[in-house]
Amino acid sequence: MAKFKDLTGQVFGKLTVIGISKKVQSGKRERYYWRCRCDCGNIKDVRTDCLTSGYVTSCGCIKKEQDKINLTKFHRHKLSNTKLWHTYYGMLHRCYNKDDTHYGNYGERGIVVCDDWKHSFDNFARWAINNGYKQGLQIDRINNDGNYEPSNCRWSTPKDNCRNRGSNVLVEYNGKFVTIVELSEILNRPYKEIYQKYRKYGIKRKDL
Ligand SMILES: [Zn+2]
Repeated sequence: MAKFKDLTGQVFGKLTVIGISKKVQSGKRERYYWRCRCDCGNIKDVRTDCLTSGYVTSCGCIKKEQDKINLTKFHRHKLSNTKLWHTYYGMLHRCYNKDDTHYGNYGERGIVVCDDWKHSFDNFARWAINNGYKQGLQIDRINNDGNYEPSNCRWSTPKDNCRNRGSNVLVEYNGKFVTIVELSEILNRPYKEIYQKYRKYGIKRKDL
């Protein structure tokens, strides 16, 4: 009995002791349980040593929160192996990483990722799945000068995407600027060939 110490009013983590709850005889020892109010509003009875040792610091809600965080981490981890995750990071790098080889066509031209996506892969993934994303598809900006945002993006096959880009890029031909699609028609050469030449030799071009 000499060791008894009233913990009423003391705070342990999120728990505030509001009074003694019960005394339990365990062999020769007496153990006290304290009625505590958690910051979240729950009431919980906790044994003295669990409180004073710092073993218990909430009604259990801290653990629940931690579990939620762990679950989200696991979720992210799981998704980090997917193509969609790489699409997401590729997009961010093109727009914000000066060392990215494509930065010149994106970040440097002022193309940004909307806040909703920029700060949350989950938001991006939700939009993707609700808007026809399938493995093998690429994200495609409808307006080549527009940003990565829901109203300006869709999922296309790599071929479509290439063609879209081609129809948005002007190349100089006989003193005039024409799209790659138009040039392939003028020259009566396959679109793919012209596009590849444009990529390979860097035909003088002017982005729309
Ligand atoms: Zn709580």
